[in-house]
This record gives sequence, structure tokens and C-alpha cells, in this order.
Amino acid sequence: MSNALAASSHPARPAIAWIGLGIMGSPMSENLIKAGYDVTGFTLEQDKLDRLAAAGGTAAGSIAEAVKDADVVITMVPASPQVEAIAYGPDGILENAGSGALLIDMSSITPQTSVDLAKAAKDKGIRVLDAPVSGGEAGAVEAVLSIMVGGEQADFDIAKPIFEALGRTIVLCGPHGSGQTVKAANQLIVAVNIQACAEAVVFLDKSGVDLKAALDVLNGGLAGSTVLTRKKDNFLNRDFKPGFRIDLHHKDMGIVTDAARNVGAALPVGAVVAQLVASLRTQGDGGLDHSALLRAVERLSGTQV
Ligand code: NAD
Repeated sequence: MSNALAASSHPARPAIAWIGLGIMGSPMSENLIKAGYDVTGFTLEQDKLDRLAAAGGTAAGSIAEAVKDADVVITMVPASPQVEAIAYGPDGILENAGSGALLIDMSSITPQTSVDLAKAAKDKGIRVLDAPVSGGEAGAVEAVLSIMVGGEQADFDIAKPIFEALGRTIVLCGPHGSGQTVKAANQLIVAVNIQACAEAVVFLDKSGVDLKAALDVLNGGLAGSTVLTRKKDNFLNRDFKPGFRIDLHHKDMGIVTDAARNVGAALPVGAVVAQLVASLRTQGDGGLDHSALLRAVERLSGTQV
């Protein structure tokens, strides 16, 4: 274990490698830089590497280069196949990070992928936490994410100061994979909530009610939600720039549907919303924000979209 990770009595901040500088990874890594961490990053888009360098980080030319001197490696990529691609193989994290490094995967992936990764990493002396997040792009920018963690208590304690630079609600949920299971539940709740909001918006609109006034008062009562607060303007302005892409929520609805089936939990409403998310993709809306569930309801309601 490197000095920076050995114990909280060491004031040195661990050197961070960040893999995956997308909508979430860019602002999150920048928050670590602002908090005083040295961040070396790698991602597939050159403009995102330039952005990291402009923010005071170091752009690496490969995963191996990014992780070789890192105490902590953080990954934030789309889904299980990408996590496996960056973790395994001769060019991957497990082969190139030092023994004693802590790997924190903050992507939303299947719980089983997290369990398998922790097992494979252990053979290399690398410890792993799954630490998916909720709060969206705005939560990442504002460093107010909810972070749901799976893994060992000792590793969680070491990672806590890093999490505190990224989020506000930080909870160890249980062993490896638990963070991902909780995140799957989160995505179920968010999708169903967006769908309910979208149905209310179409209903209110067709009834001729002032939509802004209606959403404001609804958000002050029991119908209010973080989803409504964060997505109200998307609905009002029909602004579906992501945010959180329908493609990613489709992936997450697959994860929660599969995980629920494995434990024998019924998701009758979630299953319907999963179908609506899937149909948006087949209609070419996969790159839009998940608030575009409004478009699905409008199509069903005969509204021109
Ligand atoms: P994104 O598509 O914007 O970014 C993904 C990044 O991963 C890209 O920059 C890409 O270059 C990088 N990447 C992919 N394969 C790579 C590889 N082989 N090597 C190096 N880099 C690679 O995605 P995002 O919106 O930032 O989401 C990332 C994760 O966070 C997903 O699992 C998503 O479900 C989750 N999430 C997203 C949000 C959100 O609001 N966007 C909120 C919570 C959780």
C-alpha cells in the first residue's frame, strides 16, 4: 500500500488516475482538482483530455500511462462492457496499476460485473469499490452527488475524503456489488418518476392549464421530487439535450429488470416504463435526455412531436 493510502494520519492526498471523462467524469474529476488532488486522466475524446489539462489535470496517452503511478484509480465509463475493456487485458488497469492501488468504479453497471472485478483485482493486490452515483450532470458539477458504495469498510474509509469532494450523501451499502444494486433501484425510481411527470405534463398541456404555474405548485406538495425540480425546465422548454441519455437509462432498466428477476421481485410498473424507454431508442431518441420520455407520452397521446 502506498503512503498516501496507508492511513488517515498521512496528510498527503493520494494521486488519482481518472478513466472516462464524459458528461459525469469531466466535472467530477475537476472537482477533485479543485479539492487539491493531482489527477491524471484518460478518455477516448481529445477535447475532453484538453478540458482536463485546462482545468489543471494531466492528460495521459493511454490507460497504462494514466494508472502506473496512481494510488487511486477512478473509472466512469458507460456500462459493463466498457468497464471490462478498461480493467482487463494487457493494456488494462489491473495489469498496469501498482499493487496496493484502490480501484473505485463509479460507472453504473451490473452488480455481477462489480463482484467479478473485485475478485479478479484481488489476485493482483488491487482493492475495489463499486461506487455508482445519482444526481445527474448538475449533481456532478455542484459536487452534491449521492454515492452508493459496495466493498470493504476499510477501503470505504480511505475513499471517503475523495467521495466528499464529489458528493453529499455517501453510504456504504454492503459488500461488493451492493452499490450497483442500490443504483439499479435508484434508476427504477427515477424512470417511473419521470414517466409520471411526463404523463402529468401532457395531461396538463392538453387541458389548457398554465404549465409552468402547475409544475411550480405541484413541486411544492407531495408530488414534488428532485426529478421534477431538475427536469421541470426540460419539460417546459422541450429541451432534451443530455443530461442523462435514454441509451444509458435503457441499459439501467435492463440491469434492474434482470437483477429483480434473479431475486424474484416483481416490477410491474418498472417493466412498462422499461418498454417505453426501449421504444424511444428504436424511434431514434436514444441520444436525448431521459426527460424525453415526454415524447413517448406525446406520441401515444396523438401530439405532434
Ligand atoms: P458519457 O458517455 O458522457 O461518458 C463516458 C466516457 O467514457 C466517455 O468520455 C468515453 O470516452 C469514456 N470511455 C468509454 N470507453 C472507454 C475506454 N475504453 N477507454 C477510456 N475511456 C472510455 O457517459 P456519462 O453520462 O458520463 O455516464 C458515465 C456513467 O455514469 C454511466 O454508467 C452512467 O450510467 C452513469 N451516470 C450518468 C449520469 C448522467 O446524468 N449522465 C448520472 C448518474 C450516473
